Amino acid sequence: MIIFNSIFRLKEHLADIRKKSPSGGIGFVPTMGALHQGHISLIKAAKEQCGVVVSSIFVNPTQFNDLNDLKNYPRTIEADCKMLEAAGCDVVFIPEISEMYTEQELELKRQGIEDKSWTEGKTVDFGVIGSVMEGAHRPGHFNGVAQVVSKLFRIVEPDKAFFGQKDFQQLAIIRSMVKQLEMNIDIVSCPIVREPNGLAMSSRNERLTPLERDRASIISQTLFKVKELQSQKSIPELKAFAEAQIRTEPLIELEYFEISNSATLEPITDYSQAESAVACIALKLGKVRLIDNVVLY
Ligand code: AMP
Repeated sequence: MIIFNSIFRLKEHLADIRKKSPSGGIGFVPTMGALHQGHISLIKAAKEQCGVVVSSIFVNPTQFNDLNDLKNYPRTIEADCKMLEAAGCDVVFIPEISEMYTEQELELKRQGIEDKSWTEGKTVDFGVIGSVMEGAHRPGHFNGVAQVVSKLFRIVEPDKAFFGQKDFQQLAIIRSMVKQLEMNIDIVSCPIVREPNGLAMSSRNERLTPLERDRASIISQTLFKVKELQSQKSIPELKAFAEAQIRTEPLIELEYFEISNSATLEPITDYSQAESAVACIALKLGKVRLIDNVVLY
């Protein structure tokens, strides 16, 4: 596995690889590091479908709306590289912030101004997808995600990019971005990998105390129960059930529980409003913000 810190050197290497036209092309797995088996499942999926697998580790400052969250985000680069290599990753890109952003771009972030230069003059509008749930609760988050992912896509120029359904709304944002920017990249979604107690794997889980980690099982238990109850309850009843269930855990502060159209992410109140629906949850457990979801139908 080859590690690059420089965009120039990485692009040079990838140009050489592209000349050899690896079968299945180049697969890309962007991450923020502190890797776990959820990330590794994406590398394995990429490995199965693509001749060369590129990953990136970059804790992207522009997608954080909370400076403490950014400061406390776990960083475990050495262990990450070992895991990537063992999973068969070929190339990893680990840039410094100054490699990815100009001082001007960082200044806009400091001033809380949404930098839209990543659209390169195109009108990009995420509509409802960008304004509900995470969009409503984390101002500027998706703009930062689109900003960094579009930069990474322009650097790596992958044939396929792999994302986890754990970040269901993020996946919808990336698909919408790729379509609106007319990027020729196939976006592949991969299932959520969970801990034995059902907790969706997340780098942020590292920051949970053993007690919190244990109590966190109520999140997926509630989501799975909601899925099970859909044949017996209306959507408002399911929401009331889930909210009541979560509120039984005093360590959890619920941010939202929503049932939405899987394609548009528009909240629904009746099953007839969506061909496929997803239940999404966001909450604080102690100091840690967690999200999870389950596709209902
Ligand atoms: P992150 O490092 O949190 O930005 O995540 C990098 C990629 O890994 C994103 O596409 C996530 O959706 C995906 N991912 C994170 N956790 C999981 C998980 N538990 N199962 C599957 N994919 C995941």
